[in-house]
Amino acid sequence: MSSDLAESVRAAVAAVTDPELRRPIGELGMVRDVRVAGGAATVSISLTIVGCPAATRIEQDVRDAAASVPGIAGVTVDVGVMSPDERRALVERLRAGRPARTMPFGPDSLTRVVAVTSGKGGVGKSTVAANLAVALAQRGLAVGLIDADVHGFSIPGLLGLVDEHGRAAQPTRLDELILPPVAHGVKAISIGMFLRDGDGGAVAWRGPMLHRTVQQFLTDVHFGDLDVLLLDMPPGTGDVAISVGQLLPHADVVVVTTPQAAASDVAVRSGLVARQTGQRVVGVVENMAALALPDGTMLDLFGSGGGRDVAAALSTDDDQVPLLASIPLSATLRADGDAGAPVVVAHPDDPAARAMAVLAASLVSSGRGLAGRPLPFTPR
Ligand code: ADP
Repeated sequence: MSSDLAESVRAAVAAVTDPELRRPIGELGMVRDVRVAGGAATVSISLTIVGCPAATRIEQDVRDAAASVPGIAGVTVDVGVMSPDERRALVERLRAGRPARTMPFGPDSLTRVVAVTSGKGGVGKSTVAANLAVALAQRGLAVGLIDADVHGFSIPGLLGLVDEHGRAAQPTRLDELILPPVAHGVKAISIGMFLRDGDGGAVAWRGPMLHRTVQQFLTDVHFGDLDVLLLDMPPGTGDVAISVGQLLPHADVVVVTTPQAAASDVAVRSGLVARQTGQRVVGVVENMAALALPDGTMLDLFGSGGGRDVAAALSTDDDQVPLLASIPLSATLRADGDAGAPVVVAHPDDPAARAMAVLAASLVSSGRGLAGRPLPFTPR
């Protein structure tokens, strides 16, 4: 009787999901021992580390899962830490046969890689990247987001992955694997998560260091199986854009611009440079478009037509680049971004949130096609 009960408790506990690894803890080898005596269950689990928020949550979920089994009156959870051998076995399992330090997002991978870029800063590229990532996750896709905007990283703040002092969440490390924190269903990694207090939040690195960082994000961060990997690129056509072009020549590129004519030229250039590395420009997003005022008039602070113009300038005879979405100015979107609650979650009915959802839908249907893709060349 007790052994049946112990089996039921083990099954319930094994199904608890590790919030960082997004897999059942049974599958991850974290359930050590389950005993039941007279309706009292004792469950021993071994975690990658203890004392972190994820560990507290797993412990609570394990307690709840065991207590939910009919016939169980009390639960004791013993939390231990994995031995080096257990950790190694877990890392092996997570890598699923992939050798260490290799890039899982090559041209043969099933993950669609989308780089979000812009000609200049301040056009809302990071806001678009963060909301697009969350909107894609809301559609049921497994989404990762790399904050490659190393000098102006803002993804941790936009996704609420910061503590009360504004410090970015620290990723858990599992030997050489880095586990990306998860927010709103998106696994996110940012250089901001690796800076220490003394750094003052600034990254004063040159090309080679930036290249290594982007490369490390692609090889050492355990995203697991993703449907989509988004990259929030730095504005312009600098070192990181070239590195990403070399590392991910098959990536799709989305260009963000404002409706302002003056912003268009630089936006077009960022798309052209991406295309030169072999990447495909799959669409343009116009952000900060006209805002409908309560009296029904439209306030087009940054003019109009920029998105359409950029899309037209990037289109060729065999490759029409569409305007994927036009996102209006929105004070709600701005306030939600500041508060770390993306507008698509916090205010899904806001016009800007609805436009972000349209963007996610358009991007999904824009698919990944190899036809008409120019051969990559290596910039020197
Ligand atoms: P970038 O990544 O291009 O530098 P950000 O995403 O950091 O730009 O956005 C710059 C500022 O503009 C942020 O304060 C953001 O909240 C605000 N912002 C972005 N898009 C909109 C919009 N559609 N309406 C209102 N404010 C916006």
